[in-house]
Amino acid sequence: MSSESTLRADIVEVGRRMYARGYTASNDGNISVRLGPDRLLMTPKSVCKGFMTPDMMCITDLEGRKLQGDRDPSSEMLMHLEVYRQRPDVQAVVHAHPPTATGFAVAGIPLDRAVLAEVLTTLGSIPIAEYATPSTRELPEAVRKYIKAHDGMLLANHGALTVGSDLYGAYYKMETIEHFAKISLVARLLGRENLLSREEVMRLQELRGSYGIQAPAPICAVPGTDLEFRSVSDRTGAAGDATCQTVQAPKGDGSRLVADVVRRTAEGREDEEIRLTYRELSALLEDAIRSLR
Ligand SMILES: [Zn+2]
Repeated sequence: MSSESTLRADIVEVGRRMYARGYTASNDGNISVRLGPDRLLMTPKSVCKGFMTPDMMCITDLEGRKLQGDRDPSSEMLMHLEVYRQRPDVQAVVHAHPPTATGFAVAGIPLDRAVLAEVLTTLGSIPIAEYATPSTRELPEAVRKYIKAHDGMLLANHGALTVGSDLYGAYYKMETIEHFAKISLVARLLGRENLLSREEVMRLQELRGSYGIQAPAPICAVPGTDLEFRSVSDRTGAAGDATCQTVQAPKGDGSRLVADVVRRTAEGREDEEIRLTYRELSALLEDAIRSLR
């Protein structure tokens, strides 16, 4: 494990990068790392993450009691504590409000489609934890449902949370989520989103091991569901927590890419989601104008 002074400097650097990239505004966001079996190093309350200094950090125990530091720990400390309690493997936690990913969290759209191989091999699917009032006990409750099976999640109408086996690992997952959100947004604006087939997703799952990536939870195929890999009863444990990941990946029938929902629907297959492309909207508009004449 890195020395305390290195970790303090690393938190300052990660905060600076998050602020520079617009992942946080004003005093938003928070960062923590494990210092030892029962000690955490954490950003303090009410400071801009872009302008921190190493001496500002707080040291707490896993119950949230402050052991050292002039300032009080982050207002979202309870969420961080819950993650460390649920995931002994996690060494660092990063929380921010990256605008595109947070837009998906506001729209209630999870980033759970099989679109990019890198995202599938590192994070898998990125669910949305239910809305909870920030800084209250509700937020750790909402996070607990997904944290055992996911290294990154959106927080409804709030932001995003990532964890890692070191601080930079957790931070890079935040970058991946925001990058993925931007790409997904552009693809949807362009009106088409081809998905990786289920078979290709399974192939990527097998490759995870050879990349040396330790994913928290597998994606498992269960027959009988078309778009999702597992049924609801299979993907939750006794406490209702997610025990595996759900990824939207249609059957490919031999092809690695599968046409998106709009085209699938046009082919007459059943699908709950209806999205209109720009071209379809224009056609509707022309029809409407014609009917008025
Ligand atoms: Zn926040």
